[in-house]
Amino acid sequence: MNYFSSRSQTSPCPVCMRGAIAEMPMMESLACNFCNHIFTLENQLESQPDSDRKILKMADTISTLRWIWTGKRWENANAVQVYTSRWLSILGILLVLVPTAIASISAYIFQPEPDVPLAWFPKFWAIATFCGHLFVLLSITRDYTQFPIQAYWRSIKRSWLG
Ligand SMILES: [Zn+2]
Repeated sequence: MNYFSSRSQTSPCPVCMRGAIAEMPMMESLACNFCNHIFTLENQLESQPDSDRKILKMADTISTLRWIWTGKRWENANAVQVYTSRWLSILGILLVLVPTAIASISAYIFQPEPDVPLAWFPKFWAIATFCGHLFVLLSITRDYTQFPIQAYWRSIKRSWLG
């Protein structure tokens, strides 16, 4: 059980990178104290049930995210996911930048007379394009990685309110 620090019996959470996961009393699963995700530990190899090589699986969502302990931290063990996530992040950046660039360029080229009604509209449209696509990108990222944006938001609000 070397993935648990011997003092606190907890392990760093691979989802939020902030909380600690610990075994829940009387249950076979583990929970994070920050993002509240639930995990289960499974043997990596069926043939070696005593092996220390355990796989951490997310158990409270339909997500198939899994991690393997490297000795220091949980590393993403979903090879396909690691491979595609690099391309997905490039695609995601393009998804935000390309429509914004098109909207900005057209706002720049077809500059209306400053005193025309709705002269502000092309610039507004460029900004709205950026925000809209960024929002879509963030919500896809959140669904994909189960990243606990809400838990972070709650924690930010708590620290603001004192
Ligand atoms: Zn967590």
